[in-house]
Amino acid sequence: MPYWLRILRDCVFPASCEVCDAPLGVGHPASLCAQCLKTMRPPCPPLCGVCGVPLPRAAGIRCAGCTLHPPAFTTAHAAALYLPAPAGASALAVAVQALKYRRRRIVAQTLGALLAERYPYGRDALLVPVPLHPHRLRERGFNQALLLARALGRRRGLPVASRALVRRRATRAQPGLAAPERRRNLRDAFAVASPATVQSRHIVLVDDVLTTGATADACARVLVAAGAKRIDVYTVGRAP
Ligand SMILES: [Zn+2]
Ligand SMILES: [Zn+2]
Repeated sequence: MPYWLRILRDCVFPASCEVCDAPLGVGHPASLCAQCLKTMRPPCPPLCGVCGVPLPRAAGIRCAGCTLHPPAFTTAHAAALYLPAPAGASALAVAVQALKYRRRRIVAQTLGALLAERYPYGRDALLVPVPLHPHRLRERGFNQALLLARALGRRRGLPVASRALVRRRATRAQPGLAAPERRRNLRDAFAVASPATVQSRHIVLVDDVLTTGATADACARVLVAAGAKRIDVYTVGRAP
């Protein structure tokens, strides 16, 4: 949005932070205030070298989950740690929930900018958003992973393959399920719609939050089977 239009919009509809409701200055380019953004820090090392989960000090380079069931993706990175309630919801969790459940699409621009700022992969990557099932897409009206991938792609000059991966089966909601149940729940849920798009490419799979990594693993498996060279996962949030 041009600067003058932002000023006009902010004079008519004064904007406030989507997390803490603090008023945002006239012409403020983001949907979150500087204080809330400052709390969105990258997860602290030591982290699992594969899935990026924070590890206790004494642990090895891989977490137990990645040792027992190595995922099909090579690495997973997140812009910040995601602490949902009741663990003391972080500003990031409130922002992600505003995007997904209050349909505040504008938040995707700010979180996408955060992703771009901390983007750790090369210039040859193809961004692939984790797809939503068509039913969920109709309900929500948009796929938050696609909005984030587009915002990241615009800022880093990376292409987005929005239809490369499809969800062909609805899955039960993931929260509350243990890792083996999540894997069962996700088996055959994804498919590659256009193998030529992903063949021999370095794929960066984009999503809002990585929890156990089961969804990302299921996506990575079908992408590898379709000929992708390497899959890295990049999310806004990482559940501890
Ligand atoms: Zn705020
Ligand atoms: Zn791991």
